[in-house]
Amino acid sequence: MPLIALISDVHGNLPALEAVLKKIDSYKPDQWVCLGDVVGYGPFPSECIDLIRDRNIPTVLGNHDAGVSGKLTIKHFRDPNRRLIQKTQELLTEEQLHWLRELPVSLREEDYWIAVHANPIEPLKWGYVDSAIKARNMLHSIDAQLCFVGHTHIPFLVSDQIGISGFNKQHKYLINPGSVGQPRDEDFRASYCIIDTDKWELKIERVEYNTEKVITGLSKMGFTRGESHRLLRY
Ligand code: ZN
Repeated sequence: MPLIALISDVHGNLPALEAVLKKIDSYKPDQWVCLGDVVGYGPFPSECIDLIRDRNIPTVLGNHDAGVSGKLTIKHFRDPNRRLIQKTQELLTEEQLHWLRELPVSLREEDYWIAVHANPIEPLKWGYVDSAIKARNMLHSIDAQLCFVGHTHIPFLVSDQIGISGFNKQHKYLINPGSVGQPRDEDFRASYCIIDTDKWELKIERVEYNTEKVITGLSKMGFTRGESHRLLRY
């Protein structure tokens, strides 16, 4: 099995995406997976979609992608997210909205891995896998060794068995690479994950990026500086 690069929850944050892609490129991964929410929150949704499409990065549908493209009704979102979804729609072409709408709900590679945005059991209910107990229960009903999820914006690695530390061949794992564009674990640097399935090594890494460009972009969308700072965090 190859070297896999995982990214998730870019949320229209182009400076963060560019910084992450540059770092990941130095690993020369064999396979990339984007776990959805390419858009929503950040001011550069169109540029992020184009960059991911130019690189042919396989991508699953996130709840914000579904909201922006009209696949999920806007009543599922509260302000300021609802306002952001409407603003994001204005920044995208009909063709880009179509691309979002057509994203697959899940991707898989034989029995090796399965990828979804939120929850592998009921992917379109967008439930959060936010505890080790939930993650472990899910692993027991999944027929793949690795399960990749995003959605919580918090990186984690959970094995199918309590007391297993590290990452090794004998176990199943649920892996969340954290968020590129809006991390929610008090470390505001962009997050991504590299998995080497030959050596069974996993790294979740962080990279700094220019947040000022994002703040400026959000103020052009009509958000105050205070709102913009908050939008970078949750
Ligand atoms: Zn998200």
